[in-house]
Amino acid sequence: MTASTSSVLKDSLNKTTFSFDESQRTALFNQVKTQHGLLFAADIKALCAQYTITHDELLRACLPVASLFAVAPISHFLVGAVVVGIDCDDAINFYFGANVEFAKQPLSLVVHAEQSAINNAWLKGAQTIVQIAISDAPCGYCRQFMNELADAEKFDILLPDQQFKLNQLLPHAFGPKDLGNNYSLFNPAPQTQIFEANTDIDTALTKLALTAYVPYTANYCAVKITTFDNGCFYGCYAENAAYSPSLAPLQSAISQLHLAGLSMNDTTVKSIELLQTKGVENQLHVSESVLANYSNLPALIAYSLALIKTC
Ligand SMILES: [Zn+2]
Repeated sequence: MTASTSSVLKDSLNKTTFSFDESQRTALFNQVKTQHGLLFAADIKALCAQYTITHDELLRACLPVASLFAVAPISHFLVGAVVVGIDCDDAINFYFGANVEFAKQPLSLVVHAEQSAINNAWLKGAQTIVQIAISDAPCGYCRQFMNELADAEKFDILLPDQQFKLNQLLPHAFGPKDLGNNYSLFNPAPQTQIFEANTDIDTALTKLALTAYVPYTANYCAVKITTFDNGCFYGCYAENAAYSPSLAPLQSAISQLHLAGLSMNDTTVKSIELLQTKGVENQLHVSESVLANYSNLPALIAYSLALIKTC
């Protein structure tokens, strides 16, 4: 791939806009897939140097690549999103996301591209979000989902040829503080509980469930999808003050699986486990509905464990 083979387009404002050609896009898609929906700081630096483009030009050019991860059997509308996040080593990475739809299931179960990218950044250890680039204007649901983020007032939202702050897209917003919650996604309340012991459950799953962002129901829960050949994919519950844009842990895990280029089918998926908090379970039926979208998958294994105070 060379810069000379990349296409340079003129948009309506007569600015030059960099975009990858098809073979470059495919190569980058394969790289991101191998890295499970991630471009690391070193990759970003190398790509900017290779194509002689800025960080923001690369970010926008990555949107059509992100949209290749979309699974949209209902709308056939492929949406890509890329979160720019800073990890615990102060490295700036790109976290990809794309929409996931479930045929013959309620539309409310779908994962939007922005949710997918934010979930990807969250699960992969981003500490701060500085930019969210999206291939199309965010819907109201996604604006509300973004309003739950710790950096909601700060990060930039980049569309293909415009840039906004969230308060421009969601004025007079309803958010966590309106429900008396002073915490937020990426800045949760300190965890003061652990699950009761259960040797049947993977400790990675119990650890992840304890990091769920569940200020409204307290149902700390997570999902583990084990594949035959490609390891495990985890998802975690992320709630929202408006309730309906909450991201369920199964959808979170399925989105992660797709970002590795895998599909939910019986030749890929070996088992699916859901861990919930005893007494406040709310994810079993919604998980079963989502799984009804697929045939021949292994039955969902659901656990409920009590929480124990540690201090
Ligand atoms: Zn949306």
